[in-house]
Amino acid sequence: LVEIRDVHKSFGSVEVLKGITLDVEKGDIVTIIGRSGSGKSTLLRCINALETIDRGEIRIEGERIAADMPNLRQLRQRVGIVFQAFNLFPHLTVERNITLAPVLTGKVPKEKARDLALDVLARVGLADKIDAWPEQLSGGQQQRVAIARCLAMSPHLMLFDEVTSALDPELVGEVLKVMEDMARQGMTMILVTHEMGFARTVATKLVFMHQGRVWEQGNPAELFADPKTPELKNFISSVK
Ligand code: ATP
Ligand code: MG
Repeated sequence: LVEIRDVHKSFGSVEVLKGITLDVEKGDIVTIIGRSGSGKSTLLRCINALETIDRGEIRIEGERIAADMPNLRQLRQRVGIVFQAFNLFPHLTVERNITLAPVLTGKVPKEKARDLALDVLARVGLADKIDAWPEQLSGGQQQRVAIARCLAMSPHLMLFDEVTSALDPELVGEVLKVMEDMARQGMTMILVTHEMGFARTVATKLVFMHQGRVWEQGNPAELFADPKTPELKNFISSVK
């Protein structure tokens, strides 16, 4: 589904991605771990063409991704992304937050929009919040609405960048559970997370990034049990 080949990316004179090669198959749950500054967010942003790449290529469903591609909007429909900070529009209700893009892009007719919102909200357990305003929701609920908003576009791939990191500890579980449900239903996902439990038990593939490179990758259980490099060994013991 996603083919990443020798991707390089610099900001000014600093090379942040130094030749990333990675494959993601349909149904894969890929977790990316690594120290702060190792390039995890930059890689996710490149996959969604929020950043241009300097060298190499990224293909999604065979199509080459570029920030200047003509059908960028169509790409964004196929690839949903959720960030750490809740990105709900504060001046729109939950329903309007969810239906704005599907209606604008003609994915759903206006009169069907509320049904769509109810449907995706049910999938994150928040159908009763359809008429709420973002500020009336807890952080965990806002994040689940942000996920529902992505789901409303029927993406083929979901990217999550530390979506639980800004949450109070007691709210992390409900968001992880939504992601776990999505994984079980076969959604292909790439996520950056510090939740090692999720990386260990839900992920089909673990990627350890270090200094702009894929340092190790493979089966999560095996990597955790038997890291090959001192860098991953150190990382694992530092997050335990
Ligand atoms: P964290 O775990 O802290 O989120 P990360 O692995 O996601 O870290 P990135 O955000 O990808 O790391 O950043 C990698 C490097 O690129 C960092 O040194 C960062 O300062 C730099 N960087 C990221 N975005 C930009 C930008 N827009 N302009 C300049 N430098 C940037
Ligand atoms: Mg980051």
